[in-house]
Amino acid sequence: MAVDLHIHSTISDGTLTPEQIVQVAQQKGLMAIAIADHDAIEGIAPAMQAAEGSELRVLPAVEISTEYQGGEVHILGYFIDTHAPRLLGKLQKIRQARRERAAQIAEKLQQLGLAVTAEQIAAEAGGGSIGRPHVASVLVKAGYVRTAQEAFAQYLIPGRPAYVPRYRLTPAEAIQQIIQAGGLAALAHPGIDNAEKWLGELIEQGLGGLETYHTNHGASQTRKLLELADQLGLLVTGGTDSHGPGGPVPVEIGSVDVPDECAQRLLQWAEQRQQAYTR
Ligand SMILES: [Zn+2]
Ligand SMILES: [Zn+2]
Repeated sequence: MAVDLHIHSTISDGTLTPEQIVQVAQQKGLMAIAIADHDAIEGIAPAMQAAEGSELRVLPAVEISTEYQGGEVHILGYFIDTHAPRLLGKLQKIRQARRERAAQIAEKLQQLGLAVTAEQIAAEAGGGSIGRPHVASVLVKAGYVRTAQEAFAQYLIPGRPAYVPRYRLTPAEAIQQIIQAGGLAALAHPGIDNAEKWLGELIEQGLGGLETYHTNHGASQTRKLLELADQLGLLVTGGTDSHGPGGPVPVEIGSVDVPDECAQRLLQWAEQRQQAYTR
């Protein structure tokens, strides 16, 4: 038995639908999964429905991208109420801002004489959340640049002519949104973002968990993070961050050795919270 508490579906930028993810998890005999799409929670209900009546537990989750001191900080939210109106409104605003940003980038490219439309960029994203990689692939396909890297370097990074800054929450805002929606906020993959230095501040803001097991965390890093979680009283979470097959860095669902205990502790946390509500 194993668990995978960080998976992306087609609702954001993954290649498998929530139902397909459930199927894969069942084939692999996983005990629990969490679909944690970027700034979106629409994958949770279909996954729960698909898993109904089976042994597989589907934990509600979301991954919110934030920025702090010029760096990326991703905040995971577990057991968020998927009907919480404020959270839904906030996530919608984030996605709306992404679309507006794509339109602004297209406009700037057009001013530079490049025939790129917001529709092309949206089509490239295929209904998922729109980002600069989609602009880059439109530019490659149109023959304006040879590679995505070239598209970024020439047009899309800060200081280049088609750069448009992104609307981002702060980690504090994301944590607050998650808590208000009844969820547990956890810091995602600190090993990638070098974000563990913010742990003290994040805990003050209400952070309750730490993603210790992750595809990009080495063994010694994982050990260090486990110690840190223990010292700071944070719940340990972990997952593959799989975006499904076919992406730039394919990672198989369930391929990181995350102890069942992580999911069990989270489920206990949710049960206690439930009791606190109904008491
Ligand atoms: Zn992330
Ligand atoms: Zn992720």
